[in-house]
Amino acid sequence: MTNKICFLFFSLILLSGCAMNDEPMPVIVSHQSVQPVLPKSPVVKQPSLSFNVPSSWYPPRSLEHGWTAIVIHHSATASGNATMFDKWHRENNHWDGVGYDFVVANGSDSGDGEVEVTFRWKQQRVGAHCGGTPGNWANEKGIGICLVGDFNKTQPSQRQMQSLLRLVRFLKGRYHIGLDRIYGHGTTPGARVTDCPGKNFPMSSFKSKL
Ligand SMILES: [Zn+2]
Repeated sequence: MTNKICFLFFSLILLSGCAMNDEPMPVIVSHQSVQPVLPKSPVVKQPSLSFNVPSSWYPPRSLEHGWTAIVIHHSATASGNATMFDKWHRENNHWDGVGYDFVVANGSDSGDGEVEVTFRWKQQRVGAHCGGTPGNWANEKGIGICLVGDFNKTQPSQRQMQSLLRLVRFLKGRYHIGLDRIYGHGTTPGARVTDCPGKNFPMSSFKSKL
């Protein structure tokens, strides 16, 4: 055979491959190539589930208010809890109940760092924590949080601050409230003169953690 014929002969053998015998050609299946590449689990955007917080912190959707600020208070008492402040505000201030939306307890009458959700938040009522006067913008638009304690004399407990951080992060995120709209009672625009939430409340370090 000439080189040309020889090349043609071997090419035919190569091309025919396994078809030269009677066995069917094996189908080589690579598992890797067959398995579809699945996208990662899609992130389902559910605002109500996007924060890992107690369900009681979420207001009823049908009543939900457009909050634009957060106002932090102290109780100016060594002890107390939401139920006790509720009684106090009804009897002494003649309000419809406790003025705050949330009370962060200090271990005296409720657990240290326990966040108590008041009727005011559950019913999305206008607050009575900033002056208590009808029409006060901070009551209309601000979420009132009270930490139990007198922070002119003592400091908030670590657990109170941890809970406050978690709560304010949640509220800030849910209502898109900027740092400049998070106030201590006394520095809330339009509020009456007060040293609430006390000279020892660490506002700037708190805000730096938000
Ligand atoms: Zn206050």
